[in-house]
Amino acid sequence: MFDDIYPIDDRCKPLYIAGPCAAESREQLLTTARAVAAAGVGWLRAGVWKPRTRPGSFEGAGDMALQWLADAKSETGLRTMTEVATPQHVEAALASGIDAVWIGARTTTNPFAVQQIADALQGVDIPVLVKNPVNPDVELWIGAVQRIYNAGIRRLAAIHRGFGSYEQTLYRNPPHWSIPIELRRRIPSLPIVCDPSHMAGRADLVEPLAQQAISIGFDGLIVECHCRPSEALSDSAQQLTPVELRRLIGHMRVPERIAAHDAMRDYRSHIDTIDNRLMELLAERMEVARQIGEYKAQHGMPIIHRDRFNEILEAAAANARRMGMSSRFICRIITEIHEESVRQQLTVADKKHDIL
Ligand code: PEP
Ligand code: MN
Repeated sequence: MFDDIYPIDDRCKPLYIAGPCAAESREQLLTTARAVAAAGVGWLRAGVWKPRTRPGSFEGAGDMALQWLADAKSETGLRTMTEVATPQHVEAALASGIDAVWIGARTTTNPFAVQQIADALQGVDIPVLVKNPVNPDVELWIGAVQRIYNAGIRRLAAIHRGFGSYEQTLYRNPPHWSIPIELRRRIPSLPIVCDPSHMAGRADLVEPLAQQAISIGFDGLIVECHCRPSEALSDSAQQLTPVELRRLIGHMRVPERIAAHDAMRDYRSHIDTIDNRLMELLAERMEVARQIGEYKAQHGMPIIHRDRFNEILEAAAANARRMGMSSRFICRIITEIHEESVRQQLTVADKKHDIL
């Protein structure tokens, strides 16, 4: 499964998509579209139906905005895409000649809604982009991609837009890069486009996040851009001006995608050797942990010693700093290793118990 996924647009590497959070008026959309095209971007995004947290906020211009998107396309040559959340949205968007659709983060969270959209897309050959669910759940994200794939869609991509957080953070939706990286590991053929705008929540944080995504090796960007961000009816703080969009595109440093450099091969084999050594050391540590487990069981000692783990952690943190690594990172690893050692000792203790 997933071996026959094709890029949304193989002319564009990376795939750049930009446009306003919402299509607000014909004039606003066309002015923004001209600027997007002038920045060298190939695709125009604009929300026609907006999922808003509270009723009474601007919920998009609705069906009539589809005509504005079609007009923007015929004037600028940009391909167009919008968000769909119901089968009715899919029908209206397809009837208007839209070039692609995306599924929003709130919708991906709900498998019933995704299935309804998938059913409406059955037999239609149109690119579909699936945003991550609001909560950091890679299985839910994969499930949504699978529903769309099962409907026969083969031009598919994921959009990583960051994840909701209860804590006050610098970002509106912190990126948690390990989740899209896990998605890439699970479905290597699926392109991943980053949405730094919804991650950032603030225009000045968009470009550094965009660069991080491109440097990691993701396949494109979807960026919110408005001809007059301060007047935007939704997501005003995070939309770039056309000048900022042009600057962002001009600044992106895109890594070459050649994996066969000799130097890279050497580095990789060096890394493999180190990983094997780490593995052997871990196996050795677990063997000692089991011996300690035997000893404790024989002498009726408890597995956990109050101060011992703290001592280990403190020593590791100090060593990490001395060796130029973050102590938080090393403490996380040591905590995991310690947990596994305790599990191994519990197994030993259980066996002893069975024998006695
Ligand atoms: C959007 O892209 O305009 C949008 C509503 O984003 P999300 O679904 O990521 O919140
Ligand atoms: Mn938005």
